[in-house]
Amino acid sequence: MKKSVVARLFAMSLAAVMTMGLLTACGGGNAASTEPADTKEADTQVEAEAEESKTEESTEAAEAETESAGTEEAGAEVSEALADGVLTVGTNAEFPPFEYVDDNGEPDGFDIALIKAIGEKLGVEVTVENMEFASLVSSIGSKIDVSIAGMTVTDERKESVDFSEPYYEAVQYVILPADSEAATAADLTGMTIGVQLGTTGDFIATDDVEGSVVQQYNKGVDAVNDLINGRVDCVIIDKNPALVFESKFEGQIKAVDGAQFEFGAEEYAIALPKGDTALAAQINSALEEIKADGTFDELVKTYIEQE
Ligand code: GLN
Repeated sequence: MKKSVVARLFAMSLAAVMTMGLLTACGGGNAASTEPADTKEADTQVEAEAEESKTEESTEAAEAETESAGTEEAGAEVSEALADGVLTVGTNAEFPPFEYVDDNGEPDGFDIALIKAIGEKLGVEVTVENMEFASLVSSIGSKIDVSIAGMTVTDERKESVDFSEPYYEAVQYVILPADSEAATAADLTGMTIGVQLGTTGDFIATDDVEGSVVQQYNKGVDAVNDLINGRVDCVIIDKNPALVFESKFEGQIKAVDGAQFEFGAEEYAIALPKGDTALAAQINSALEEIKADGTFDELVKTYIEQE
């Protein structure tokens, strides 16, 4: 927090110096110009503002570079987020098999096991905070250090957070009543669709399905219950949870591959504080090790292929 304020002030004063420079340069040019002085000044103002935002960006980038170079020199590229020896991870434990609450009331699942394995590689303790999915991104950097929650990398989220290397490929599925004949994108037109609030399923139902009425739930399972009760016509949710729900409510619902409805592939990654390049490097190299030493495949077998 403190650092970015300092960077901003520094950028502003740099911009001020540059603005003065520009004004002086243009002042000289004005003598030979036929353009009215005030128009010229207005132009300069716009240029100076554009210059200011450029300077701010490059100053922040330069600062990030200096920081990582500094820690490299010290021999350990350790993020400040890990300085207390604890990685605080946010999740929404309503998304089996990636995260769910186990019989002891503790968050468990593929993602939880994966982030614990990452914590082990990094030599830090992992604490898991269970919260609403829609609050995860905005909590990164304050309540939590990072989030692992079957979270799809999207351009919109990238405006607020960075992502690790992707670790899993996904696609949205459509859950329908077992006897439904819906089979193409056109069949979804005008449907009342249940989704989990703030998820990619929500975005597809809202933005891509013509004439849809979207019912948002905090838990995917609540949307599925409403499908069974006839309150929604279908549920759009990620493949693996859809398959878990299909077997949980066997005979009542069916999960259909979203590719059939023209939904594109998605990738899950760990959401990270924006600009913490040291943390991204640490998490990515731990992830790489976990893939290389067979741990990742074991977790897939234990949590995902067991469904
Ligand atoms: N993959 C979806 C998304 O990122 C859903 C994630 C979830 O519900 N945990 O929006």
